[in-house]
Amino acid sequence: ASLLAAHDLRKTYGSTPALDGASFSVHPGEVVAVMGPSGSGKSTLLHCLAGIITPDSGTITYAGRELSAMPDAERSALRRSDFGFVFQFGQLVPELTCLENVALPLRLDGVKRKAAERTAREWMERLEVDGLGAQRPGEVSGGQGQRVAVARALAGSPKVIFADEPTGALDSLNGERVMELLTQAARTTNAAVVLVTHEARVAAYSDRDVTVRDGRARDLEHSA
Ligand code: ADP
Ligand code: ADP
Repeated sequence: ASLLAAHDLRKTYGSTPALDGASFSVHPGEVVAVMGPSGSGKSTLLHCLAGIITPDSGTITYAGRELSAMPDAERSALRRSDFGFVFQFGQLVPELTCLENVALPLRLDGVKRKAAERTAREWMERLEVDGLGAQRPGEVSGGQGQRVAVARALAGSPKVIFADEPTGALDSLNGERVMELLTQAARTTNAAVVLVTHEARVAAYSDRDVTVRDGRARDLEHSA
């Protein structure tokens, strides 16, 4: 069964339709790339699926429960416990060290500092940034920072990872390494990945592609 599924989503900003009957689903352990031209509705779809914004109509079910039927506080708690996020830029807290950044979702979940930092260290090792624990985000390269961000997303043991152009600010070599490590980590933990990208090279890491055009999502067979 699908872990996360959306049916017939519609969302309008003023008079601009961003989603116009979009449907989507992802299974545990599956990496789905959401592709399409700029302005087609990819980010809006991702933000709806992640419970960050509410669609005007349509349904989203996560683990058999309807997101829009949940009280806000419960949806926020779910987002914190079950979802991980990787964005293009600016997601690390600049005042914290890289280790503290990776440990942050666990700390917010009530895990004690020592245990949280132990888990954070393990994830930093897997993402090959274990030497950067004491550095601040401003002191590491773009590729290193994104690997720290992926480690942070995974440290909270998410069931779904939302990645919005996670390699958009990286050169191709660093981008490929981030994608390799992200998809490998997701497969190891059986997390689903919803990956928004406009780059075919990045989408090549997915199991399946969904193309969004004019606010409508269409499933395509992967052309590997
Ligand atoms: P994509 O991620 O594919 O570039 P978006 O989901 O960001 O597409 O945008 C879809 C459409 O909705 C675009 O026409 C965009 O300009 C519009 N849009 C997105 N977010 C907003 C917003 N917060 N306010 C007004 N219009 C928006
Ligand atoms: P934009 O597309 O507007 O440039 P992002 O894609 O980074 O920006 O973020 C879009 C939305 O997601 C924003 O409303 C932001 O508040 C929210 N957001 C960003 N990071 C997180 C996060 N880690 N958890 C939950 N929501 C987030």
